[in-house]
Amino acid sequence: MKKIIIIGGGFAGTNLANKLAKNPDFDIILVDINNYNFFPPLIYQVATAFIEPSNISYPFRKMFQGKENVEFHLGSLVMIHQQANIVETDKGYLKYDYLVLAMGTETNFFGNKNIEEKAFPMKNINDAIALRNHILLSMEKATTTNDAEEEKKLRNIVIAGGGATGVEVAGMLSDMSRNIISKDYPNLVEGVGKIYLIDGSNALLGPMSQKSQQEALKVLKARGVHIILNTLVSDYNDEVVTLGDNQKIPTATLVWASGVIARQAPGLPESSITRGRRIMVDEFNKVLDTDNIFAIGDQCLQISDKNYPNGHPQLAQIAIQQGVLLAGNLVRLEEQKPLKPFSYHNKGSMAAIAKFKSVVDFPKGGFMKGFMAWLTWLFIHLIPISGSRNKFKLASNWIVSFMTNDPTLRLILGTEKKDANPS
Ligand SMILES: Cc1cc2nc3c(=O)[nH]c(=O)nc-3n(C[C@H](O)[C@H](O)[C@H](O)COP(=O)(O)OP(=O)(O)OC[C@H]3O[C@@H](n4cnc5c(N)ncnc54)[C@H](O)[C@@H]3O)c2cc1C
Repeated sequence: MKKIIIIGGGFAGTNLANKLAKNPDFDIILVDINNYNFFPPLIYQVATAFIEPSNISYPFRKMFQGKENVEFHLGSLVMIHQQANIVETDKGYLKYDYLVLAMGTETNFFGNKNIEEKAFPMKNINDAIALRNHILLSMEKATTTNDAEEEKKLRNIVIAGGGATGVEVAGMLSDMSRNIISKDYPNLVEGVGKIYLIDGSNALLGPMSQKSQQEALKVLKARGVHIILNTLVSDYNDEVVTLGDNQKIPTATLVWASGVIARQAPGLPESSITRGRRIMVDEFNKVLDTDNIFAIGDQCLQISDKNYPNGHPQLAQIAIQQGVLLAGNLVRLEEQKPLKPFSYHNKGSMAAIAKFKSVVDFPKGGFMKGFMAWLTWLFIHLIPISGSRNKFKLASNWIVSFMTNDPTLRLILGTEKKDANPS
């Protein structure tokens, strides 16, 4: 049996592991820093107390029950010892015949220490819980302060980054402000204070069609979100956000949805690391200048796909398709058959702007918005949720939450500290 070590159990890693499960030619160990897989596109709904973290998370050990050739190892990559074919994690050493790197990305603060220390990133479940606690605690503090300026700071929220995550957080917070905060905190008549959405480019939802961008702008403006484009967030200190044009916004909450950088993979040849720290791979996802190491998903950069000469966007579908193709290619490698090159099959993109308001860009140029787009968005986001019990719980949570506009998940659990995040 060939030993495959997969580092990272996101979309790419779990699709690879599940495709090779029960294949008697392979013995697989999947390594992850968390003991669960989660669904990043919905963490903004956890952050805004709309769904529970367990709705979109699934334990690896449960996922691999009954798959005898797949083991789980809770740990974090420390070093790849290429010559010895060994990976070192913080929990021990693992020998491999094939190593697959699928660790995705982490938040990029572009070197700004103030922002790194004080802003709330939106990358994983811990980030979402920390933000949820912080928003609820800020509202509690706002109800008790007698200082009008302090109250304004506590209620204002600034979101840096007008991509899908920033747009979805802004839309959800505006709904939360109107439907929930104003009822839970009757003395805060305006609910959450001003919600600002800041982006350095000239449009929201950058990679989507112009129609989607304009719809996002229209819907969020109608909901009272203050949108500032062509402007960067340059600093965050003493609860004041400073913008590139020196505008200052007092706020206790800066949500950072502004950029990612690939996770580090120490021990790889320097020649294989390229822009955004992504690992350069060939058309079969083999890492440049290595023999038996592969990288898939957000962590890699592949420029061999003729439709994407600058590399693929960092999206779930690409990670899934690369994981599935690599599983087939590892089988082909063992059978000494020719490998298949990766070519991305674009299934379109979508974003939920607010309740009943979504946009969908179809691969061949079609566009849909409004209620039907929102229903499509719900359906498409339900399918990949791990576990049928989770799918059912998420669907019922959504039905109750959207019908009542008042889910009951506003619990301040654990600590407010944003360093609750282990990753
Ligand atoms: C908030 C948010 C919203 C998004 N919305 C969308 C969307 O709507 N549509 C879309 O297509 N894409 C979306 N994306 C992007 C999408 O989530 C990624 O493209 C996708 O998750 C990439 O899959 P991956 O398997 O490469 O990496 P990930 O899914 O990021 O998985 C990486 C795994 O590696 C593990 N890991 C990290 N470091 C280590 C380490 N040192 N040692 C061991 N394990 C480690 C992590 O715990 C994680 O399980 C969103 C991303 C975010 C953050």
